[in-house]
Amino acid sequence: MTLAPQTLEHVRALEAAFHQRRPFEVKRSAVPLGAWDTDVLQVGAGPALLHGILLAQQGWRVTVADRRKVGQAHREWNISGPELEPLVQHGVLTREQVASLVVAQYRHGIIHWHGGKRRVVNRVLDHALDAGRVMELLVARGKESGIAFLEGHRWSGLTVHPNGVVVAFETDHGPLTVTARLVLDATGSSSPFADFDLACPTVGGVMEGLEEGTGDHQVDSTVGEILVSTEGVEEGRQHIWEGFPASSTAYTVYLFYYEQPHRVPADCLQALYRRFFETLPRYKRGDARLLRPTYGIIPGHTRLKPGGVSPADRVLRVGDSAARQSPLTFCGFGSLVRSCGPSTAAVGRLLESNTLDQHALNGTWQEPPQLRMMGVLALMMMERGAFVADPQGVNRLLEVAFATLENAGPDAFERFVRDQATPAEVMSFLLRLGRTYPAVFKDVARNVSFKDIAAWTVQAGRALAGA
Ligand SMILES: Cc1cc2nc3c(=O)[nH]c(=O)nc-3n(C[C@H](O)[C@H](O)[C@H](O)COP(=O)(O)OP(=O)(O)OC[C@H]3O[C@@H](n4cnc5c(N)ncnc54)[C@H](O)[C@@H]3O)c2cc1C
Repeated sequence: MTLAPQTLEHVRALEAAFHQRRPFEVKRSAVPLGAWDTDVLQVGAGPALLHGILLAQQGWRVTVADRRKVGQAHREWNISGPELEPLVQHGVLTREQVASLVVAQYRHGIIHWHGGKRRVVNRVLDHALDAGRVMELLVARGKESGIAFLEGHRWSGLTVHPNGVVVAFETDHGPLTVTARLVLDATGSSSPFADFDLACPTVGGVMEGLEEGTGDHQVDSTVGEILVSTEGVEEGRQHIWEGFPASSTAYTVYLFYYEQPHRVPADCLQALYRRFFETLPRYKRGDARLLRPTYGIIPGHTRLKPGGVSPADRVLRVGDSAARQSPLTFCGFGSLVRSCGPSTAAVGRLLESNTLDQHALNGTWQEPPQLRMMGVLALMMMERGAFVADPQGVNRLLEVAFATLENAGPDAFERFVRDQATPAEVMSFLLRLGRTYPAVFKDVARNVSFKDIAAWTVQAGRALAGA
């Protein structure tokens, strides 16, 4: 199996955009703007378009610019069923439209670390969506709400004035500027303002021809495989598989690893695709064909250092550029759907009162406290130099962690994987883990630095105190 030339070209462009991202120098001017082209300028028309739509629905003039054609999706999204509800509640899509997005639904999910037990978890990421149709409906809804779309616009700088922002773009027809009261940075992992401290290169896609059945190396269209490893640390990384039914005949497979952003290789996606094709038989058997490749570098955040969502007055990061993914599954689409309602309601109030300074904008995102405690868990799924001589170390650590979660009962297990455990439950899980498997502290200490543990203790204290 190989990638088509245009896919390879896009893969290379994504790698380059990730590695060449440079923070913009935010220019400042004391001269007020006379007028604005738009109230809100959103740069980036991925699924974070939800933000622009909700603001347009509030009555603000919204413009959305993208360097490519708007509404392009090169991914597939899985989401837990109830997480789709906000799309209907906020009037973005009708219930019928939401139902039409679901291309497959599975009975239960499994988590299986190499050498460990195959564990069942229910109602987690159990709905597979047609990402192309999601984007098609969002763009249509955006147009109905009055959004003006600008395609082929690559932003190249911005100047913040006392009452607005001038954003510079490069286009095929030369440079141009757009003025706005507020700018939403929705440019994903290539954002010039992204300050994520984790990265998750992910490759795979929708496949046909995999052997069907209920064995570990077969695909079962009623089961989703949420986290699976087929070996220990190799090439310095703990690789993880995911597999979801995509329709009655197709199956989506991903291979990914968690990494510190500065250690992500320049050709990370191409190298991971080579490994994907080589090692797929360790995961699933069959005469596989890649129908639709899906790939990207998902940014994440350990929450060990306080991160704001506003890099400057009148500029707000949303979606992947704010790195607000699920700490365990790194699902950013689900996180966007969950958070866009409260976040845009708060932004609307600030636009109303014209209070768009950095401090006020940072207050528009109130992260659920348990996420502040769980962000660090991704570090446990990542090789950080401690397990080279002990390749099974990450699997062993994850096996005992998930055994402890399973022992808490199916409901608690499910809520934990869906990021819904309370801070007290997260704490109780960690204490039980330490009591049942005291050796876990040695493993954690090998992979997580003292500084990380100290930062986490502060975060946990705040989350438990409800601060
Ligand atoms: C392979 C893969 C599988 C995934 N599976 C799931 C899943 O099952 N469930 C889930 O919840 N999440 C999943 N995710 C995560 C999800 O796709 C992201 O969280 C989501 O796409 C983030 O949306 P976004 O709009 O913030 O950013 P993006 O989707 O990255 O969109 C960014 C947009 O900005 C544009 N842009 C970038 N730079 C510029 C620039 N300089 N000027 C103008 N425009 C620019 C890009 O063209 C793009 O349209 C997956 C991600 C990957 C890579």
